[in-house]
Amino acid sequence: MIVVRVTTDVTQNATDRMTALLKTTPEPGMRLESIPVPEPGPGEVRIRVESVGIDRGAEALIYDWHESKRHYADELPQLFGHEFAGTIDATGPDVDGIATGERVAVEPVVGCGRCRCCRSGSFSICPDRRIVGLDPALDGALAEYAVVPAETVYPIGSLSADEGVFLELLGLAVHGIERSGFEPGDSVAITGPGAVGIGALVAAVAGGASSITVVGADADREDRLPLARELGATRAVASEELTDGLDEAVDVFIEAAGHPDAFSLASSSTRRDGEIVQIGIFHGAETVPVDLTRLVRRGVSITTVYGRRDSSWRRAIAIAADTDLSPALGPSFPLADYADAFEATRRREGIKITLHP
Ligand SMILES: [Zn+2]
Repeated sequence: MIVVRVTTDVTQNATDRMTALLKTTPEPGMRLESIPVPEPGPGEVRIRVESVGIDRGAEALIYDWHESKRHYADELPQLFGHEFAGTIDATGPDVDGIATGERVAVEPVVGCGRCRCCRSGSFSICPDRRIVGLDPALDGALAEYAVVPAETVYPIGSLSADEGVFLELLGLAVHGIERSGFEPGDSVAITGPGAVGIGALVAAVAGGASSITVVGADADREDRLPLARELGATRAVASEELTDGLDEAVDVFIEAAGHPDAFSLASSSTRRDGEIVQIGIFHGAETVPVDLTRLVRRGVSITTVYGRRDSSWRRAIAIAADTDLSPALGPSFPLADYADAFEATRRREGIKITLHP
């Protein structure tokens, strides 16, 4: 269903054409093009995209043509954008239970549907999974319209489109809590106050944590740590202030930074019989040193989590409906101002920067 066919520069769109922000050449940047509006096939729906997020680990690196993303070179031009929300605008044949006009967010991970992981609901770790907006065969949402399989959409009711975008991250954090032994009243620590760590904070507040400590880097002191307090952290500190770990070991430690030092802090600051939930990906670190003997002797378990499950979506939607997420949303930019949005991402502005096509 690759519809990308570069033609002219952006002109006034006729009804069968749309503006899309494409990666066209193997160098930094993207460009606006006019391409055909995609048609939904059997089992697919078309979404009028209202908001699409910039993931610092995906679209931002692709835009900057970071060496870790140059494997896309042979696939260009490509339409990226995997965190998005909007309104169903058309449905293909054989689509039941979802109608035009419904506002939805999208689970970008599409499993094979047949393997053991998919059959048990863990489609996010399907060995043959593809990701809408990242897989070259599944066009993304940096455009006015996107076509996706009907089973990937989740109705978001009256949530804003930016809140809909945040659900992908909140859902991942909720999944981490779901997989852990967390119970109301437990104490929680979170490393890495990025989008996922802030999502974990929101999920822990909603889950009734007795205390939540958020640990960031020195660079987070002016913005992300105050924001964490605003969203309900009982304590928000820079790791530089913690020479001896946390004062009191926590029941559940959510590691969302993906940094070896953060895992080391989790190892020393999770109580006996407690649990470390590893969400962060250790980009660039081949192996991560773990003092496993120490963890074994203290009965600390490690749970890893990747992606979301169906239940994560339902719970994330319910939490978002009940929480003021506004401190974590934006800044937002019109699609035409994409260069400013990617520059703001580079400057680490906000938690979840979005584009509005
Ligand atoms: Zn599968």
